[in-house]
Amino acid sequence: MKRNDTYTYARSSKLFSAAKKVIPGGVNSPVRAFKSVGGEPIFIEKAEGAYLFDADANQYIDFIASWGPMILGHAHEEVVNALMSSARKGTSFGIPTALETKIAELACKMAPNVDQIRFVNSGTEACMSAIRLARGFTGKDKIIKFSGCYHGHSDSFLIEAGSGAVTFGSPNSPGVTQGTAKDTLLARYNDLNNVEEIFKANAGELAAVIIEPVAGNMGCIPPVKGFLEGIRQLCDEHGVLFIFDEVMTGFRLAPGGAQELLDIRADIVTYGKVIGGGLPVGAFGARKEIMSHLAPEGPVYQAGTLSGNPLAMSAGYTTLSILNESPDLYQRLNQKTTYLKDQMKPLLDEKGIPYQLNQLGSMMSLHFTEHPVTDFESSSTGNNAFFNAYFHGMLERGIYLPPSAFESYFLNDAISYKDLDFTLDAFQQVLKAL
Ligand SMILES: *Cc1c(COP(=O)(O)O)cnc(C)c1O
Repeated sequence: MKRNDTYTYARSSKLFSAAKKVIPGGVNSPVRAFKSVGGEPIFIEKAEGAYLFDADANQYIDFIASWGPMILGHAHEEVVNALMSSARKGTSFGIPTALETKIAELACKMAPNVDQIRFVNSGTEACMSAIRLARGFTGKDKIIKFSGCYHGHSDSFLIEAGSGAVTFGSPNSPGVTQGTAKDTLLARYNDLNNVEEIFKANAGELAAVIIEPVAGNMGCIPPVKGFLEGIRQLCDEHGVLFIFDEVMTGFRLAPGGAQELLDIRADIVTYGKVIGGGLPVGAFGARKEIMSHLAPEGPVYQAGTLSGNPLAMSAGYTTLSILNESPDLYQRLNQKTTYLKDQMKPLLDEKGIPYQLNQLGSMMSLHFTEHPVTDFESSSTGNNAFFNAYFHGMLERGIYLPPSAFESYFLNDAISYKDLDFTLDAFQQVLKAL
C-alpha cells in the first residue's frame, strides 16, 4: 500500500479557507469541520474500496464509510455501473418509475414488519415524517426521545432535557420554539424505569417513542437486555407507536436491521444511509394500517420533488440487492470489527489508560473513560484531550476515524485484514505517543 511518508495538508488547508468564505464554517454538515477534535478538515479528492484520497494525495483507510452508507466500500463497480446507466436515461422526472416499486418490494422483503415504505431524501426527513405519521395515526401530540440519540435536525428532535426528568424538554438550538419543545419528552437511554415514569406522567398524551435501537450517535451503545423489550410492552399497553430509527442500523447490522438482529418489533421504522448506497435517500415504513394514513391515501401530508429519484433509487437498489444476496457479508463485517476490537484491547491494557470499547456488528467506538458507556451521560465522561490526540495521531498515520468521540466507526466490506493490521500498527504507535 503506497502512502506518503509524512502527511501534510497544504492543499486541504487552502480549500478550507476558500470554503469558509462562501459556506458557513466551510462545511455543509457541522461535524465535518473537526471542531470537536481541533485542526482543519481534510478535503477528499476521490475514494476507492476501503480508501480515501485527499487533496494532498494522502491515503487513508476509511472507518466512517460516509457515516455508514458505503457498506460495500467506495465506488463499488456494480453501484457505479447502475448509476451510469441510470444517468444516461435522464436524472429526474417527478413522475413514477418502475424502479421505485422494485426497491420498495426489496426493502419490504428485507425489513421485518414493513408492508409499505415511502422514500424521501434524507434520514432527517424520514424521522420528521415518521413522527408526523405517528401523530396523525394516534391523534396524540407528545413523543419520547432519548438523550444522546440523533434523529436528524428537524425541530422536534433538537431538544435537550428540561429541569426535571419527567418534564418536557427545552430547545437545544436557537430557532427551535418552546412550543415545539414542550411536545418532546427526554428519557435516559437504557433506563426503563425512567421511560415508565414518563409514560405515567403523560398518560393518554403520547403518540410515539422514537429510539436508535442500537445507539450510534453517542458512540456505539447497544441496548441492555430487557430495555427495548420493556418499551415495546409499555407501547402496547398504552397504544403508543414504537419508532425504530434505523437510519444507521438498517441494512447494516443485518439484512433486516436491528429489528431482525434483536428480534424486536417496531411499529414504524426509518431508514437512511445504507438504503441510498451513497446517494441522498431516506425512507420510512410500517404495516399497511399505519402507512395508509399517508397522503394521497390518507390525510397525513408528506411529499418530495426529488423523492424516489432514479439515480438515488438505482444506487440504493443495487446496494440492497447485493446485501440481500450475500448473507456472509454481515458475518464477515462482524468478524473484522470483532478482530479490530479484540486486538486493540491488549494494546490499551498495556498502556494502562482507562477505556471502554463498545461494539455490535460493524459498529464500534472507543471511549477514554473508566465508566461503562451505556447512555449519554456516561458517554460524555470520555477524556477529550486523549481522544483528540488519538484522532490526529491516527489521521497522520493514514487512518480516518470519526472526528468526534460521539460517533461510531462503520466498517465496510472492502476493508481487509491487512488494512486492519496496518490500523493496529498505527494504533500501537499512537498509544505509545499519548
Ligand atoms: C444520520 C442519522 C439521521 C439523519 O440522517 P440525515 O440523512 O443526515 O438527515 C437520523 N437518525 C440517525 C440514527 C442517524 O444516524
